[in-house]
Amino acid sequence: MSAPFYSASEDVLHYVNGQKTLGESVRFSDVFNPATGQKARRVALATTSDVASAVAAAQKAFPKWADTPPLRRARIMFKFLELLNEHQNELAAIITAEHGKVFTDAQGEVVRGIEVVEYATGIPELLKGEYTDQVSTNIDNWTMRQPLGVVAGITPFNFPVMVPMWMFPMAIAAGNTFILKPSPTDPSAAMLIADLFKQAGLPDGVFNVIQGDKVAVDALIEHPDVKALSFVGSTPIANYIYERSAHFGKRVQALGGAKNHMVIMPDADIEKSVDALVGAAYGSAGERCMAISVAVLVGSAAEKVMPALIERTKQLKIKNGMELDAEMGPIVTDVARQRITGYIQAGVEEGANLLVDGRSFNVPGFENGFWLGGTLFDNVTPEMKIYKEEIFGPVLSCMRLATFSEAVDLINAHEFGNGVSCFTSDGNIAREFARRIQVGMVGINVPIPVPMAWHGFGGWKKSLFGDMHAYGREGVRFYTKQKSIMQRWPESISKGNEFVMPTAK
Ligand code: NAD
Repeated sequence: MSAPFYSASEDVLHYVNGQKTLGESVRFSDVFNPATGQKARRVALATTSDVASAVAAAQKAFPKWADTPPLRRARIMFKFLELLNEHQNELAAIITAEHGKVFTDAQGEVVRGIEVVEYATGIPELLKGEYTDQVSTNIDNWTMRQPLGVVAGITPFNFPVMVPMWMFPMAIAAGNTFILKPSPTDPSAAMLIADLFKQAGLPDGVFNVIQGDKVAVDALIEHPDVKALSFVGSTPIANYIYERSAHFGKRVQALGGAKNHMVIMPDADIEKSVDALVGAAYGSAGERCMAISVAVLVGSAAEKVMPALIERTKQLKIKNGMELDAEMGPIVTDVARQRITGYIQAGVEEGANLLVDGRSFNVPGFENGFWLGGTLFDNVTPEMKIYKEEIFGPVLSCMRLATFSEAVDLINAHEFGNGVSCFTSDGNIAREFARRIQVGMVGINVPIPVPMAWHGFGGWKKSLFGDMHAYGREGVRFYTKQKSIMQRWPESISKGNEFVMPTAK
């Protein structure tokens, strides 16, 4: 490349038909560096007609791309994969600059996204149909899966590389054309991804980026040529996307919010459990849909866990994410920080025991950054707002329960069901937990059980609207439709008309 495609100062635009474009956008949203609190650039917000242009480009590119043999599509994914590996650190630095998470965590995010691209390179095998010879005399039946057409992905701020990669590698490898609508909070990574795809030889129009807000989302939902929508974000918006997309006859998967519990049994390895808990609660400032926000301490586990947990929470290394020993960076925006401090105040007013208060935390040299320290509550109860609602920040609520059964009942009664984990050294407890818990992704001595690329990601209850999980085999099914073909050749046709329901002969 002669000039860098991603520029730190210019406006972030749309990417349609292989070109950066402002289209007809006249509205912009500011993009900040959360560590400095400074406005870094602006992002364009699409109009309905910008969305229509992207859909038209994707629709035009679809027939040829769908007809491209899966092996050739896979070869482009291999080339894209190579380029992603080369540009891993560049992508991670963009994430840290706009999201604030620490650089090493951003590197991990990029790797987890790349794993889905690796899986998508196996598309020839994944698309293989099923065939039955001789379902009746001289008749064969087979099924194959074909792409849907133009499909779209609407993604949240918290994983600007990984979450889009839960979607478009599978969709594009399966023969669809794609429109990504990233979060306007951290929109730049999508533009570098678009450029890498172009370098990999992806035909123009197959991958497009529309920057924007509700206007762009509504235009995607309402456009008749958009056949499916994948959404990841908060539950109220997931619910809205699900209902509205169903109204317009679209296939939809909408992943929502979470309240993830970690159960610590008295027989668990306490030191390892506390290590795992601190990382899972405060990593990425708790802005992960799989972050642990509730620690359920069973029986005598509480007395063993709490002293170490208080110490570790106070000692968190909270810094600009580009400093390599940082454990936690700033909050993504000032608005988010205010929302989180509001929850901390609500917890205090409802009578939870605030053991570590992160509200007055600041970082010397970065006084205008959106900082919050790790915050720890004890004696939280199920009726409190800080227990019921997703806070999405570095706030950990501890609850003390007497028995394992009470812990399972508590978790099963929660409206969210994204992730959960249980730390124990008892195999039977672990097995019972995995079987009885009403949550989509379960960790046994694993704090954040994000499934690997070939297993698929998705929660239960209010954490997922729709029935197909993201990526894995379910991802392939979501982005394709089955066609069943039954064939018979002239010898049997020559037998003449049949007026009764055909049965095997
Ligand atoms: P969000 O719901 O505010 O935004 C998600 C996307 O929807 C963005 O692209 C945004 O521009 C768009 N959007 C926002 N308001 C809209 C509206 N009124 N109409 C149409 N579109 C709208 O979520 P966020 O704050 O960016 O991300 C954090 C949320 O995402 C948390 O709730 C988190 O749990 C959730 N999340 C869930 C998963 C999962 O796998 N279940 C993964 C990551 C994040």
